[in-house]
Amino acid sequence: MISVLTRVATVALGGLLVTSGLAGDNISEKARKLHFSSIVVDTHDDTTQLMLDPKFDLGARQPKGSIDIPRMREGGLGAIFFSIWIPSKVTGPTAVQKALQQIDAVREQVRTHPKDLVLATTAEQIRQAHKNGKIAALMGVEGGHMINSDLGVLRKYTALGVRYMTLTHSGNDEWADSSTDKAVHSGLTDFGKNVVREMNRLGVMVDISHVSDKTFYDALEVSWAPLLASHSSCRAICDAPRNMSDQMMKDLAAKGGVIQINYHVLAARGVHENHRTHRPRCPSCGDRSRRAGLRF
Ligand SMILES: [Zn+2]
Repeated sequence: MISVLTRVATVALGGLLVTSGLAGDNISEKARKLHFSSIVVDTHDDTTQLMLDPKFDLGARQPKGSIDIPRMREGGLGAIFFSIWIPSKVTGPTAVQKALQQIDAVREQVRTHPKDLVLATTAEQIRQAHKNGKIAALMGVEGGHMINSDLGVLRKYTALGVRYMTLTHSGNDEWADSSTDKAVHSGLTDFGKNVVREMNRLGVMVDISHVSDKTFYDALEVSWAPLLASHSSCRAICDAPRNMSDQMMKDLAAKGGVIQINYHVLAARGVHENHRTHRPRCPSCGDRSRRAGLRF
């Protein structure tokens, strides 16, 4: 299931690559044709935060952010992974509770927009949604801290529809090092390796966006399923720790993995918004801004 789902994700990335190779050759028409004949998959979207507001309606065109059903339709989006995210510093039972609130918020948006959305957990369900003229809604947990070092919690998230988990966010977990924190585990701990094995068994994709290089290589060695970088960028273009080197991308691809590139304009410029001061901070492109529903 994972490899099939990964191939669907490849369609989206492949579209971008082919598009870039057509520069100057009637790109708009060809790109449009390719885009709207593909199942376009967004593997990381941060709109979930907005859904926690009971007044938020995904079906209405929103004044901020990038995602709502009208614009998903106009943009030809076929499937979207809504990110379940809380900061790395929020841990323990609180982290689990907040993750469950967000999972519920996504599921409620799907339930209340049955003409447009359908919950999907497999590649086949994405294809079926596409055939039925609906957008497939999926979920990814962004940060292993949200399982509270409990594989049972991971299994509960899976039962509720989560189909990838990013091993860390910007801070270390109790069992994995992040690319933007001081390494304390030398990659994955023994428990962290068991988390990866359990994700493999459950059919939950192992997302290595945000993790340290050593965590990436540990996961690459342990995981029998291809890895996913749900929202990383390229160090060769922007040298930020949470982006991937060319060698890492080659090693990822050699085991069937996929990198999905951040394309938000701030990421492309190599800046992002400082969460507290609103001033640009460089060079951390590829990191997120949770403000205004930006998609990092
Ligand atoms: Zn992120």
